[in-house]
Amino acid sequence: MDYEKMLNEAYLKIKRIGGDERFEIPKVESSIQGAFTVVKNFVHIAEYLRRDPKHMLKFFTRELASPGTLQGSNAVFQTRVNTRTIQQKLEDYVKEFVLCKECKRPDTKLIKEDRILTMKCEACGAKCAVKQLK
Ligand SMILES: [Zn+2]
Repeated sequence: MDYEKMLNEAYLKIKRIGGDERFEIPKVESSIQGAFTVVKNFVHIAEYLRRDPKHMLKFFTRELASPGTLQGSNAVFQTRVNTRTIQQKLEDYVKEFVLCKECKRPDTKLIKEDRILTMKCEACGAKCAVKQLK
């Protein structure tokens, strides 16, 4: 393998990691209330990730296998789930719908093309297919 090319690739990787330091997956604030789970900062998280809260809700209701609704800035799920599980699901969401699959940056948006949801990266210009939520 070309040594110079190898060095160059190593350098690019370092640069990328450095550039991503600003982005952190938000911490979920949730509590179980009776038979329900309330995620207090759900809409704020969606805004930070620049995603439609309804799209995020759809993902969570599927992953948690529970109906859920938006109430103000909260999401309310009709099941009891601990914060750690919700945090894990949020990380799955970010990996699937926020981070560019090419450059791993969060500077992306979801666009509809021919009725198919696609992720477009504003940093590197890549277009990636994402899971379709029905
Ligand atoms: Zn990208």
